[in-house]
Amino acid sequence: MKQIVILGGGYAGLLCALTVRKFVYDNEAVVTLINRSSSHQLITELHRLAAGNLPEQAVALSLTKLLKGKRVQLVTEEVTGIDAEQREVRTSGGDYSYDYLVVAMGSQTAYYGIPGLEKHSLPLKSIHEANRINRHIQESLSRYNQSRRPADATIVVGGGGLSGIEMVGEIADMLPKWCGEHGIQREDIKLYGIEASPSILPGFPAELAARAQSSLERRGAKFIVGVPIAAYDYPVVLLKNGQSIATHTLIWTGGIQGNPIVADSAIDTLRGRAVVNDYLQSTSHHNIFVAGDSAICYQDNGQPLPPSAQLAWQMGEAAGYNLFAMMNGMPLQPFKPVIYGKLASLGRKDAVAALGRHDRPLKGLPASLMKEASKAKYLTHIRGLQAYLH
Ligand SMILES: Cc1cc2nc3c(=O)[nH]c(=O)nc-3n(C[C@H](O)[C@H](O)[C@H](O)COP(=O)(O)OP(=O)(O)OC[C@H]3O[C@@H](n4cnc5c(N)ncnc54)[C@H](O)[C@@H]3O)c2cc1C
Repeated sequence: MKQIVILGGGYAGLLCALTVRKFVYDNEAVVTLINRSSSHQLITELHRLAAGNLPEQAVALSLTKLLKGKRVQLVTEEVTGIDAEQREVRTSGGDYSYDYLVVAMGSQTAYYGIPGLEKHSLPLKSIHEANRINRHIQESLSRYNQSRRPADATIVVGGGGLSGIEMVGEIADMLPKWCGEHGIQREDIKLYGIEASPSILPGFPAELAARAQSSLERRGAKFIVGVPIAAYDYPVVLLKNGQSIATHTLIWTGGIQGNPIVADSAIDTLRGRAVVNDYLQSTSHHNIFVAGDSAICYQDNGQPLPPSAQLAWQMGEAAGYNLFAMMNGMPLQPFKPVIYGKLASLGRKDAVAALGRHDRPLKGLPASLMKEASKAKYLTHIRGLQAYLH
């Protein structure tokens, strides 16, 4: 009996496990999925949890329920190492041997060595971190009622990419409600978005980035673009241009880097992400497939694919099929990504999208509805609605 071990129960890991079990019979292999928590986190919805706009149950789906009847053994442990030569995975609960391994452990927040950032800022990469942001904002606003210190009433989001802009949008929507609850005037609260690139939403067409910025500015957000954060000398955010902002709340969404377990393994890596061939196999170890943010995968134009949930889903399924093909001596299928486009929500009622390879623009309610539709499509695909309801 072969041992298939999948590391990570996010988009890539879950879809890989479900795909493997579509093809591989019970008497051929034991499939084990190892994840640090018992839930499948909808990371693309974390900004809404952080703003208190969604309950935790809507963002953390039970892996046990999602894998029910799929003959996948779930292990809830922290992976601490991969020994690619011995074909073993080290975890907080013991070692697991494998014949085939799928690495799908995502990425982690990058702080780029900016002084004070890792220690004092609030990252947004997990349910735990989203809940922490929500608690932190509520405590600061409640404190402001007594202290009247501007740093308690100032919220800064560092990073104007997709996740940062979506976070600003949710906060902008929630501020009137929070002000009412904490007895604060809306004018007292400052909300900043800071982006080092010349524009927010890098990668989006300029017209849509400008549209997103003006929509958020109309709801009271202020943007500082083209200026990197130099340090967080708590509680003061120092910018490269000499400007400073006093705040107890710096939400950091400014970058990601490879998972350290992958970076520290013997697998071929580039800047902490595993290098894979056209079939999503590690270039150094062909019995290891890598999917999602953990892998660096190139497009036909030579550029790496952006880390995204839609690609992690596709890569997970492609790796799952190729693993089955490899086990059975069948030809492997090259991974052909389908790019549906980019979509950034700007709070509950507005969004911008650039669809398809040609970036066809979509704005406002139709784009917001498309965001909801893509979430519903995903949940239907993984039968996540059942996990919500039971
Ligand atoms: C706030 C935010 C908003 C985003 N919005 C979008 C969006 O709108 N559209 C889009 O396409 N993309 C979006 N992204 C990017 C997208 O979420 C990622 O690209 C995607 O989650 C990658 O999927 P993955 O399966 O590779 O990793 P993940 O979804 O991160 O899953 C990795 C899994 O591995 C587990 N894990 C990691 N390390 C260990 C360990 N040592 N031991 C055990 N388990 C471990 C984690 O707990 C997790 O369950 C967003 C990201 C963020 C942070």
